[in-house]
Amino acid sequence: MNKPIIPYGRQHIDQIDIDTVINTLTADFLTQGPKVSEFEEKFAKYVGSKYAVAVSNATAGLHIAVMALGLKPGERVITTPITFAASANCVRYCGGEVWFADIDPNTYTLSLESTQKLIESKPKGFFKGIIPVDFAGLPVDLEQFRTLANEHDLWIIEDACHAPGGYFTDSKGQKQHCGNGAYANIGIFSFHPVKHIACGEGGMVTTNDEALYNKLSKLRTHGITKDNMSENHGGWYYEMQELGYNYRLTDIQSALGITQLEKNDVGVVRRNEIAENYKEAFNGKIKFQSLPKGTYNAHHLFVIEVENRKALYDYLREEGIFAQIHYIPIHTLPYYKKIGYENADLKNAEQYYSRCISLPMYPSLTDKEQEYVIDKVLNFIK
Ligand SMILES: *Cc1c(COP(=O)(O)O)cnc(C)c1O
Repeated sequence: MNKPIIPYGRQHIDQIDIDTVINTLTADFLTQGPKVSEFEEKFAKYVGSKYAVAVSNATAGLHIAVMALGLKPGERVITTPITFAASANCVRYCGGEVWFADIDPNTYTLSLESTQKLIESKPKGFFKGIIPVDFAGLPVDLEQFRTLANEHDLWIIEDACHAPGGYFTDSKGQKQHCGNGAYANIGIFSFHPVKHIACGEGGMVTTNDEALYNKLSKLRTHGITKDNMSENHGGWYYEMQELGYNYRLTDIQSALGITQLEKNDVGVVRRNEIAENYKEAFNGKIKFQSLPKGTYNAHHLFVIEVENRKALYDYLREEGIFAQIHYIPIHTLPYYKKIGYENADLKNAEQYYSRCISLPMYPSLTDKEQEYVIDKVLNFIK
């Protein structure tokens, strides 16, 4: 085999996707049309939530989620340091303070114990919400976070950007799909091409709460509504009731989202096959993300930990394998350092970051390509 170029993630676009986008281009609506609501309805059905609001990207979704939950300047929210910066930035957009709890050293997701410790170290009412992240595709046990949140009167936003199709099993033995709103107030998904469902840019906000749904819908479109007007105005009449944004998804993107969504289950099965191959090859030699019982990992990423991470990264690049690091801990990014996180004590997150590397993981990765990746990794560590 010639030296390949193997990225860590890649979208999969087929002829059905192409045809549907082309058809939408000649339809009546390029935006604010029927494809958007069709995508919302199908997505809600897929994850098992009552409502879904399509947005221009997941970052916009996180922003209006925090707004809809009523966060005021100076109020505090807990999240994990091992996630994309957007999971924390949404709190800053609303003038809130981000507090980081540590990760679990084996699942790499927000540690329940660390979160509980942080909450209990402060007076009641100090925190307003928690944003757990289904990191790498591994669903967080939101039932446990809900119990903690209820004790302290907190809301939960599940950042499920990595995990459409994943689920955990709750104490009643029920499968709880990511973003279904059973335990979190709001779920967030991204349709950036490196994620499961590619729209170019795009996102979805899910909830079971009608009042939140109405707020989210309004905030996505400038804070404007035509619903429930008190008087009988003319047909043109609308009200801008609060300061919202233009965070809409187009019909072109929604059409692509619909056909991409239809392939998600097949893609997640393939991702799990790839994960099993990695695990079989690395078992006992290399540490990888552990899988709690009853949990189905949607596998946006496959992360391993190694001693000499930078050397492995460089070596793999030389061999045409573009592995990636997820993530630089948020509290160590210059912006967050500057606003006071310099001395945050997050040992598990920092230890993890010094060792982590994400290997190629996407449905169209071939067995042959994966064997090549495994060969190179094993060759490096021996
Ligand atoms: C990708 C990602 C986001 C942001 O998604 P965009 O659609 O690019 O705005 C937020 N949180 C997590 C965990 C992500 O991986």
